Amino acid sequence: MMVWKGGGRGMAGVNKVAEGVYRIRIKGPIGDVGHVNLYLIEGGDEATLVDAGFFSSADEILDAVETVLGPGFRINRIIITHLHYDHYGSASQLAARLSTEVLLHEREKIIAKIIEDIRLDKERTLVKLLQLPERVAEKVYKVIQREVEIYPKHVKEIEGDTVIRSKSGRWRPIHTPGHTPGHLCLFNEEAGVLISGDHLLPSETSNIAYYPIKDYNPLLEFLQSLKLVEKLNPKLLLPSHGDAFTDASRRVSFLFQHHEKRLQEVMQGIMEEKSITGAARHVKWSRGDFENLSDFDKWLAVLETLSHAEFLAYCGVAERRIDKTLTYSIVDSSFEKVLEKLHAIR
Ligand SMILES: [Zn+2]
Repeated sequence: MMVWKGGGRGMAGVNKVAEGVYRIRIKGPIGDVGHVNLYLIEGGDEATLVDAGFFSSADEILDAVETVLGPGFRINRIIITHLHYDHYGSASQLAARLSTEVLLHEREKIIAKIIEDIRLDKERTLVKLLQLPERVAEKVYKVIQREVEIYPKHVKEIEGDTVIRSKSGRWRPIHTPGHTPGHLCLFNEEAGVLISGDHLLPSETSNIAYYPIKDYNPLLEFLQSLKLVEKLNPKLLLPSHGDAFTDASRRVSFLFQHHEKRLQEVMQGIMEEKSITGAARHVKWSRGDFENLSDFDKWLAVLETLSHAEFLAYCGVAERRIDKTLTYSIVDSSFEKVLEKLHAIR
């Protein structure tokens, strides 16, 4: 049911997508393509907002929430699925204006610290390690600077046993690492509805970025999280980008195939060029050849290549070496071991 159809920028579209759940679609600011979906969970005497849009979205979000809950509404909590600027942008402003708390997974707080450390590192160790092209590095530091400035303040870690009441039953947070280490989905078992964040999207493949957290293997955890979500057997999935969809298993199967192919490409890339940035040039990216990607997409491509190289290391076919630069070498060129690991997870 369409509640209020927004059109242009500055006017969110609000749709009822399930009993007691409303989607608030926010268009990206000018210069930023696309949109992000926020979800409002209504529980009679309590309301939860999932995600907080872009930095410039606060007024638009408040207007949208008011069309659902009416004037003088109260939001009990804002849950951030993960610490990316299109999901947390207005969190601090909303928390202050609504006197409410902001909750996220503890690992996302670690990310904030890592990003801050990268920003403060005068040596730019990361650029040297990854052999990033200078233009890409400039863009990365610009984005990091901006991200750190608008990080939500006074966030609280979400407890695993948190229960959110709604008109259609209780929701609980599901930790689904991979896109980021502390990514959260929310699941309503009675209604069979999953708010899937950026973990499972209907048509895009989420970026699997590497973060230097101890024992973190992004692709491994991502694939395990896909399996976890599939086992929940959701009837309806509500993603952060794109429209609601139904067949989780079909999408999960597609993503396993997608990453199997990408692992092969990264393996080939490492055989030809040892650096991660070099290997990234051998991968078929959905947005085109590496050289034609935007500077920021090149950065995401490098991080995704790194995650795949780490998975190859986990399978025992690649070895990592850190000196002044980070390099990998292939120690077993048969793909069988990788397929075995993938099948074991699937
Ligand atoms: Zn994201």
